[in-house]
Amino acid sequence: ETSPRTDFIRQIVREDLACGRHTAIKTRFPPEPNGYLHIGHAKAICLDFGIAQEFGGTCNLRLDDTNPAKEDPEYVRAIQEDVRWLGFEWASLRHASDYFEVFYLAAEKLIRQGDAYVCDLSPDEVRAYRGTLTEPGRNSPYRDRSVEENLDLFHRMRAGEFPDGARTLRAKIDMASGNINLRDPALYRIKHVPHQNTGDAWCIYPMYDFAHSLSDAIEGITHSLCTLEFEDHRPLYDWCVDKVDLAGHPELLAPLLAKGFPNEAGKPRQIEFSRLNFNYTVLSKRKLLALVEAGLVDGWDDPRMPTLQGIRRRGYTPAALRLMVERVGISKQNSVIDLSVLEGALRDDLDAHAPRRMAVLDPLRLVIVNLPDDHQEMLRFANHPKDAALGEREVPFARELWIERDDFAEVPPPGFKRLTVGGEVRLRGAGIIRCDEAIKDGDGRVIELRCTLDPTSRPGMEGANRKVKGTVHWVSARHAVPAEIRLYDRLFSVPDPDADEAGRSYRDVLNPESRRIMHGYVEPAAAQAQPEQSFQFERLGYFVADRHDHRPEAPVFNRSVTLRDTWAS
Ligand code: ATP
Ligand code: MG
Ligand code: MG
Repeated sequence: ETSPRTDFIRQIVREDLACGRHTAIKTRFPPEPNGYLHIGHAKAICLDFGIAQEFGGTCNLRLDDTNPAKEDPEYVRAIQEDVRWLGFEWASLRHASDYFEVFYLAAEKLIRQGDAYVCDLSPDEVRAYRGTLTEPGRNSPYRDRSVEENLDLFHRMRAGEFPDGARTLRAKIDMASGNINLRDPALYRIKHVPHQNTGDAWCIYPMYDFAHSLSDAIEGITHSLCTLEFEDHRPLYDWCVDKVDLAGHPELLAPLLAKGFPNEAGKPRQIEFSRLNFNYTVLSKRKLLALVEAGLVDGWDDPRMPTLQGIRRRGYTPAALRLMVERVGISKQNSVIDLSVLEGALRDDLDAHAPRRMAVLDPLRLVIVNLPDDHQEMLRFANHPKDAALGEREVPFARELWIERDDFAEVPPPGFKRLTVGGEVRLRGAGIIRCDEAIKDGDGRVIELRCTLDPTSRPGMEGANRKVKGTVHWVSARHAVPAEIRLYDRLFSVPDPDADEAGRSYRDVLNPESRRIMHGYVEPAAAQAQPEQSFQFERLGYFVADRHDHRPEAPVFNRSVTLRDTWAS
C-alpha cells in the first residue's frame, strides 16, 4: 500500500505540482443527496479524498443539492457517516445550494455578454430543434433577443411570473456543434418546488453542468474528478468556467463573502475516470431505491444491498473497500469487475485480522461416552494461526458437543473426510474420536452420535500427531450460546441484472437463496462480540456480529463472505 501509485490522474497531479501550476491541490466529492452511497461511490471517495491526502491537499464534501424534488436530509446524514466510515474527513462541508445567488449573478453576466438568452420553446420543441448526431440543430427563434429583453425575462423567471417549463435560460454556443451538449444547453429551468435548504426562495434552478462547473470554480477545486459519462460535457464545463471567469470577477462572489465564505475562486480542470461496475449487482441509486420501496430487501442497509450501509452491515471493512479500489485501479476503460474481486479483498483483510472462533450452524449432538457426565475443561486456543499478537482464549470442552450435521455421513460419499460410524476424526484442538454408533429417531433421522475419545491423543500428547481423515469443529453443548446466523449470498442470480432482456427487469432476477436464517450455536467467546466485530468461524467463513441486532445473550451474526470463492463464474 505504500508504493507510489502511477495511474494517469496521479500523474497529472504530480506534474501540476512539479511545474508550479498549483502549489496545493484541492478536490471534492460531490454526491447528489437523492439516495444512499454505494460501492461505486467508494471508488470516487477513495480517489477524491485519497489523492488530496497523498499530495498534501484538501478535499471538500459537497452535497450537490441543486435539484429540489428528490433530496432528503436522511441521505445527507448517511453520506457523511459513510465517508467517515471509509476513513476520510472533509476540509469543508458544502452545499451547492449555498451558491444559488452566485449562479444567478453568473447567469446575468452571461446574458450581458451575449452568451445566454431566455428561450420560450417548450421542452418538446427544444428537442426537435436540437438535431441529432448526424444532423445539426436549428437556432431557436428566441436566440437573438436583446440583452435588455433577456435580463428582463430572466428577472421575471426568478420572480415567479411564469409556470414550470414555460421558459429556460440557455447558453448561446453553437447549434451546429458536433457535440450535442454544446447546442445551446439549458442553464436554468423554472420549477415551482420548495428546496430543502433554501425553502421557497427560488423557483428557478440551475442545470447540472452550469452548477457543477461553477461550484468547482467557487471552491477553488484544482482537479475535478468525475466518471466517464461526463467526458462529452467537459467542453461545456470549460465554457462555463471560462465565460463566467469567477477568479477574475470577485464581485460575483459578494453574496458568498457576505455569508462568511472565503474567496477561493479558481479555474478547475475536469478529469474523467471509468465507473466501477460489478457483475451480479446493480449500482444506481434509482434502482436501489426501487428495491427498497418494493420491499424486496429490508431497507437501504440490508446486508445484501451494495450500498455502503448494506455492505458495512454485511461485515465489509473500510480497509477491504480501499484494497478493492486499489486492486481495480484507475483507467478510462469502462469494464465490469467480477464480484470475486470485492469478496477477495474482504477475505484478505479478514484473514489477516479477524480472530478465529468456533460456531455450529446446523447442530448434531455428539456424546463422548468415555468422559464422565460432569467432565469440564478449558482448552486454550490461539485467536489467530498466524498472528500471536491477537492472543488466546479459553474454549470450554465437555462430554456433550454440537458438531455440524454435514460433518457426519451414514453412507459416506467417495472422498468423504469427516465422520462415519467406525471412523475417526480429530476434534479441533481436543483430540481424536471414533464414532461407535449413530442414534436415530422414529423417522430414521440421526439425532446423536456416540463416540470414544482416544485418551492418548489429547493436545500436546504424542498420540495427537497421528494422522486421521479430517478435523471437525465443535462447541460444548452446555456452554455454547444459541445464535441466529444469517447466511447471505448474492442478491441477483444473473451476472448482468440490468440487461433488460425480453422485458425482464432486475427485479425479476433476484436470487431466491440470497438469505437463509440458521439457528445454531457459538462458543462463549463469540457471543461476547461487540456489534460489528468480525470473526472467522472456523471452516465456515467470515461472520460479523450484526450492527443492530446482536446482543451477547442473544447473538446475531451475518455471514460476510465464505472462506473460498464458491461461485463458478
Ligand atoms: P447513481 O447513478 O447511482 O445515482 P450518480 O453518479 O448519479 O450515481 P452522484 O451522487 O452524482 O451519483 O455521484 C457522486 C460522485 O460519485 C460523482 O463524482 C460520480 O461520478 C461518482 N460515482 C457515482 N457512481 C460511481 C461508480 N459506479 N463508480 C465510480 N464513481 C461513481
Ligand atoms: Mg449524479
Ligand atoms: Mg444519479
